[in-house]
Amino acid sequence: MKLPVCGEEQVIMEAIRNNTVVVICGETGSGKTTQVPQFLYEAGWSHPDSDNPGLIAITQPRRVAAVSMAKRVGYELNLPESVVSHQIRYDVTTSEKTRIKFMTDGVLLRELSQDLLLTKYSVIIIDEAHERNLNTDILIGVVSRVLKLRAELSREDRAKIKPLRVVIMSATLRVSDFTENSTLFTKPPPVISVNARQYPVSIHFNKRTPEDHVAEAFKKVSKIHDRLPEGGILIFLTGQNEIQHLCKLLREKYPSLPPKAALEERKRIRQAAELELKRDAAIPGEESDSDDSDSDLGFDEEELVSTKDGKWEYIYKCEYGKFTYTISYAAPLHVLPLYSSLPTEAQLRVFQPPPEGTRLCVIATNVAETSVTIPGIRYVVDCGKAKERRYDIKTGVQSFEVDWTSKASAGQRAGRAGRTGPGHCYRLYSSAVFDHDFEQFSTPEISRMPIEGVVLNMKSMGIDNVVNFPFPTPPERQTLSKAEKLLGYLGAIDTDVKHITPVGQAMANLPVTPRFAKMLVIGNQQDCLPFVIAIVAALSTEIAKARRRLMRKKYFESQIKHAGLDRSSDILKLLNVVGAYEYAGATAEFCEENFLRSKAMEEIRKLRWQLTNLMAALFENVDVWVDPKMLPPTKRQIKFLKQVITAGFIDSVAIRKDVIENGGQGGTRFKNARGVAYKLMWSEEEAFIHPGSILYSQEPPIALVYNELFKGATKTCFKGVTAIDTKWLPEIGKEFCSFGRPLDHPIPKYSEQTKDKKTVYVVPSFGPKGWPLPPIQ
Ligand code: ADP
Ligand code: MG
Repeated sequence: MKLPVCGEEQVIMEAIRNNTVVVICGETGSGKTTQVPQFLYEAGWSHPDSDNPGLIAITQPRRVAAVSMAKRVGYELNLPESVVSHQIRYDVTTSEKTRIKFMTDGVLLRELSQDLLLTKYSVIIIDEAHERNLNTDILIGVVSRVLKLRAELSREDRAKIKPLRVVIMSATLRVSDFTENSTLFTKPPPVISVNARQYPVSIHFNKRTPEDHVAEAFKKVSKIHDRLPEGGILIFLTGQNEIQHLCKLLREKYPSLPPKAALEERKRIRQAAELELKRDAAIPGEESDSDDSDSDLGFDEEELVSTKDGKWEYIYKCEYGKFTYTISYAAPLHVLPLYSSLPTEAQLRVFQPPPEGTRLCVIATNVAETSVTIPGIRYVVDCGKAKERRYDIKTGVQSFEVDWTSKASAGQRAGRAGRTGPGHCYRLYSSAVFDHDFEQFSTPEISRMPIEGVVLNMKSMGIDNVVNFPFPTPPERQTLSKAEKLLGYLGAIDTDVKHITPVGQAMANLPVTPRFAKMLVIGNQQDCLPFVIAIVAALSTEIAKARRRLMRKKYFESQIKHAGLDRSSDILKLLNVVGAYEYAGATAEFCEENFLRSKAMEEIRKLRWQLTNLMAALFENVDVWVDPKMLPPTKRQIKFLKQVITAGFIDSVAIRKDVIENGGQGGTRFKNARGVAYKLMWSEEEAFIHPGSILYSQEPPIALVYNELFKGATKTCFKGVTAIDTKWLPEIGKEFCSFGRPLDHPIPKYSEQTKDKKTVYVVPSFGPKGWPLPPIQ
């Protein structure tokens, strides 16, 4: 009842009754997540006989929060899991009795593709909207659509379904993207701010920013624990490894059991005390038993009665009586980790009061920033950093990188110390770093992701019209339609209805850019998947920087020529480099000798390993036979690999200009590519093979695909070139048949298709097998 949000119950309920959409802002811990569903429940919502019989849904960006909040609300309402349920990807507790359902936003998005009008629900509460996760943003967009669709229903149809309410909850007041966005909601929704009683939190910056924030956190926690009055400590670190490491350090220093030296000390005290008791007990004049001093003193008759302020009190019983003694230890610290991959049961321990006489110390990732509120925290130690999902805009490869959080996040973290009383926040970085290096707010995830990936994702959720989609922060329309076009070329969506295809569905599962996803999905043929994986890994690894040195042109080319390897593709050249590196034992010396960046090579290896396991996990019957040492591809495989590359870069074909001018009849003979112009597909501009390409010194191919266009001062050049056969194009790039028209070029007859090429479009069925590459951390 003391939670700030409870004071606003009337206002909130009235707003929800009178408006389709309501925004609630309130400081973390003010009771939004746990109380708002209860207000609705208690006002009769989700009751079968009420006007709003549909379920109450609450979406969370994190699984931890969905599970723990469902448990908490169930406990507060005294209702079983079958009524207050949760649903996350692999864990569902819903039943026919479910009335309140906590779920991840991903789960609701998937449900939406089945039931676009959300007829099961009477209210959708979208929680943690301030985090601006991709899924949350998309969900808000879709839900605004759902409301419009419902409003457009005929009166008859509308009568068949019950009204739907939407509540958006945010821990910050920065909600204008939702409220002032006319494409989202026709009428700006009312905003209810909950005034949380926040106690003052004193902020302490470090004078200097340490290199090792874990060591610094350890020092800080020790100081707090040794010197400051009681109250829980919450430490923000960036990930599981750091958290486990600090847990270990702290548990060693502040054990919940006495350390060895103290055990010796206790033994000494007991022996002395026992002798004294014996002397007191001895009847004067009677002989004492001389052996007694050697008697073995066990611990079994001893009892720990209290631990307070670092003083542990024991009662010891022996045959001469019992006595009480105290001994000082470092006061025990109840150290608990909290991160999302921790089992749920372990996560929920942070909500339980710590054992008596101990101080709670939770070491968490930014899960504890806004999604969960840990009771009794008085001290916050903030490393100022967080692990963020990053996307390489060019390759779409995801990685997790540690970087400074935003000022807004730092404020949220500090706020955790002021829930129960005045608190302290220790920032393990200087105020100069805070002022200069911290962004005001973190960027919405959608603005950091490569857009083709976002669009493919949305298509896989059944959202076909992305160009007019009401995003809270909309990407540019042009980029959206360009992305959509590319997906059409890649065969990921049907170009007429813009609906995802089976190939696209398979591609959507892979955390790489759609081009590479396409190559991987079709690459499991002719034992080629390992090569395709190596190619994708190599292309994903900082190729622009790496290539120049990687390829130390002359040297490698002569090696390749000498070894009789294929010379018709820069991408296969990369494959050769990866193969040679592994063959030579993946050593730093090899990299040194061959002008390779060994960091990049290690990265490629790691990616190969990840992608292989991913493919094996995602698809049945994936035929992964590779060990890191690949034999070079056979002639047949080379042809297939070039077709795979063509499929991934099907919108980047160029044809020699002289051949086009000759009506497709042969053209001039050239010794090398110098000054030989090509025509691009999408413009009249001409382009040239870059001197860095392996193809530069050979007879230039009639057709090629490139993976980069590079505009120099005088001309435009291709980089990453692969010579292709125009005969493949109508098969691989069905969408480009018009390509042949202006060309008047010998377009191959379909009868020339071979069985192999036909299989290019088949979605492979893959099987469970790992790659025997050593795991690299
Ligand atoms: P908000 O969503 O506004 O951040 P919550 O509804 O999550 O706030 O939390 C409200 C209060 O309920 C907090 O003070 C928190 O400590 C408490 N609380 C939440 N979950 C639990 C739990 N599992 N055990 C004990 N207290 C909890
Ligand atoms: Mg909450």
